[in-house]
Amino acid sequence: AALDAVTQRDRDVDAFLEITYDMALDRAHDLDRARAAGEVLGPLAGVPVAFKDNMNLEGSHTTCASRMLEGFDSPYTATCVRRMVDAGALPIGKTNMDEFAFGSSTETSHFQKTRNPWDTRRVPGGSSGGSAAAVAAGEVTLALGSDTGGSIRQPASFCGVVGMKPTYGAVSRYGVVAFGSSLDQVGPFGRCVEDVARAMNALVGPGRDPLDSTSQDVPVDFLEHLDDPVEGRTVGVVGSLLEAEGLSHEVKEACGAACRALEDAGATIVDVELPHIDAAINAYYVIGPCEAFSNLARFDGVRYGYMEQGCGTLARQTSLSRAHGFGTEAKRRQLLGAYLLSSGVYDRYYMGALSARTLIGRDYADAFSRVDCLLMPVAPRTAWFSGEMGDATQMYLSDTFTISSNIAGNGSVSVPMGLGHDSGMPVSVQLQTPAFRDRTLLTFARALE
Ligand code: GLN
Repeated sequence: AALDAVTQRDRDVDAFLEITYDMALDRAHDLDRARAAGEVLGPLAGVPVAFKDNMNLEGSHTTCASRMLEGFDSPYTATCVRRMVDAGALPIGKTNMDEFAFGSSTETSHFQKTRNPWDTRRVPGGSSGGSAAAVAAGEVTLALGSDTGGSIRQPASFCGVVGMKPTYGAVSRYGVVAFGSSLDQVGPFGRCVEDVARAMNALVGPGRDPLDSTSQDVPVDFLEHLDDPVEGRTVGVVGSLLEAEGLSHEVKEACGAACRALEDAGATIVDVELPHIDAAINAYYVIGPCEAFSNLARFDGVRYGYMEQGCGTLARQTSLSRAHGFGTEAKRRQLLGAYLLSSGVYDRYYMGALSARTLIGRDYADAFSRVDCLLMPVAPRTAWFSGEMGDATQMYLSDTFTISSNIAGNGSVSVPMGLGHDSGMPVSVQLQTPAFRDRTLLTFARALE
């Protein structure tokens, strides 16, 4: 049924880059046999799941939606993918994304533009737009994305589904193509908080992954505390964020509605400040490109992916492979990173960004000494029309609310709050909790459903 849904609905949405038809059927037959033999099946047995195309899945391609990796065979399976499949999930396919996860609209994919299932003239958000759209269109029950500066939460909000960025280190990054290694985190999309909790159990339940040195043991079970009351708990609202320039009326209203819902459930709303939050976007667009420049240096046209033919010299081959393998945004990020890390410039920008990172971390620690959870917008507005956001800087500025939790590393989630009155498109709010309180995060998210 899931494969039929994908075949039919994906014509309108274009969420998938590859459908792993045979793999899904084989896996389903394995499960059938196991059930017939009386074996106990995993908690996600038979659940159709899609994976962002920066996650390796042996037997499928991993392209990062780039010409640079067109046709690249996954040499092994990423831990996050492996764990979902081990829990019984059926791998339905690989989803479209912004090239190498640079972007907020899934328009920088080399292969296709994914459309928002609510209004196919609009973008699904990004960079994990394919995963968000596949869940929103009912093509799969769960999908995984990666979030370096908002790439799970923002497309989740544009497509009206739940999207969680767990605490940095909660989910293994082994086998996921790196963008910004100190910021990247894998997380699930689902239609409701409970589905996301089930995915989290599969992702972190088996404990830390020895193949990712930053992975840590995290408390499970995510279902156990889902229905805990939020009564008597405190939720912080950062007043300055709600006054931010460019914040749409619909988003402001959704934040107000979320506050009222949490108050009705017995939580206390408190005003808090994150005094250095304005520096987050600047710090991110320094740290992100610097780490990306370093990570993407491996695409030299020799070891991975696209290789320009007939170049004569190795230097020319590397240079032309990169010139023709990467798209405009991927080049922009790498050029920016190369410049920011050059001598004389490095001290001023990179060191400055690291100082901002420390200050933002302290702001969060102060805020979380007073409240259990923070409430804020996900994105300044609902999904925009394809092609509407012409200028890169304008798009970068739309990441303003999501970036700080990648900088600080704590968990965050995007929770749908219905449709906006003006655009008629899904609008969400963001919740954040202290690092490794991801179960509490889902308890608050559940209270908003
Ligand atoms: N939109 C942000 C960027 O373009 C975030 C991307 C991401 O989280 N991968 O960098």
